[in-house]
Amino acid sequence: MTHDDENFLRRAVELAAEARAAGDAPFGSLLVGPDGSVLAEEHNTVLSDADISAHLELKLARWAARELDPGTAAATTTMYTSCQPCGMCAGAIERSGLGGVVFALSTEQLTGLKPPAAPVGVRQEGPALFEEARIPVEGYYR
Ligand SMILES: [Zn+2]
Repeated sequence: MTHDDENFLRRAVELAAEARAAGDAPFGSLLVGPDGSVLAEEHNTVLSDADISAHLELKLARWAARELDPGTAAATTTMYTSCQPCGMCAGAIERSGLGGVVFALSTEQLTGLKPPAAPVGVRQEGPALFEEARIPVEGYYR
């Protein structure tokens, strides 16, 4: 972790405080290019947008995939975020082609700062109907 990394993380924490002051959940994040320039900033807007997927990291991953060349710019761009990305955001970051993530609070540290929550889980069933379900997929990725 470099001095620059810590300064970008401080900006992410500042964005988290701004989000909280605005009535949203306290999470902030930014994208930094290879030359150290800030490309985009976001904060959590789950409450103000009434959108369960309005996590800052997901929004920035979508921005990067849309606005940056995946082979070059995206791969050398770093996401600095006030908290370790959740599973939803981690998946989107991976698909976006971003070069890396630097976070302040770990998921474990965040959990320690929150009241205990009941474990969540959604029942999933499958696989099923392979012969039918494979038809629209087969050949698509070649
Ligand atoms: Zn997330």
